[in-house]
Amino acid sequence: MRTWLASHLPSLAEGAWVGSKPCLYTLTPDEHFVLGPHPSYANVSVACGFSGHGFKFASVLGEVLADLATGSKPAYDLELFSLRRFEGAAPLGRAGH
Ligand SMILES: Cc1cc2nc3c(=O)[nH]c(=O)nc-3n(C[C@H](O)[C@H](O)[C@H](O)COP(=O)(O)OP(=O)(O)OC[C@H]3O[C@@H](n4cnc5c(N)ncnc54)[C@H](O)[C@@H]3O)c2cc1C
Repeated sequence: MRTWLASHLPSLAEGAWVGSKPCLYTLTPDEHFVLGPHPSYANVSVACGFSGHGFKFASVLGEVLADLATGSKPAYDLELFSLRRFEGAAPLGRAGH
């Protein structure tokens, strides 16, 4: 890290180490979102498992969730993100990166 800092942020390269903290976020097995209606409860929508790239999609996720909540058909095909794609799959555990 100090080697990288020396070339990018030289003033920090020799600084005192203050501490560190693991950064965790959810990763789905295929690293795609889980987004859409709950398979068993039509009045519940799911939006999670953003696999480290949810923030930049916040506005479109909001649009989709608003459509689902109001009974409108979302403007996007949500099949890729269906919770059903994991049916029958064994639970996975994987450290964030
Ligand atoms: C280190 C890091 C880097 C990332 N970099 C990027 C990036 O470069 N680009 C990108 O697009 N995405 C990035 N992401 C992913 C992005 O931050 C997430 O996908 C996004 O924030 C998920 O939004 P969310 O609303 O689902 O959950 P969150 O943002 O986690 O919001 C959940 C909220 O619910 C609150 N909450 C939890 N439990 C309760 C409860 N019981 N009652 C009330 N409130 C509760 C929490 O306090 C939190 O405010 C990164 C994530 C991390 C951790």
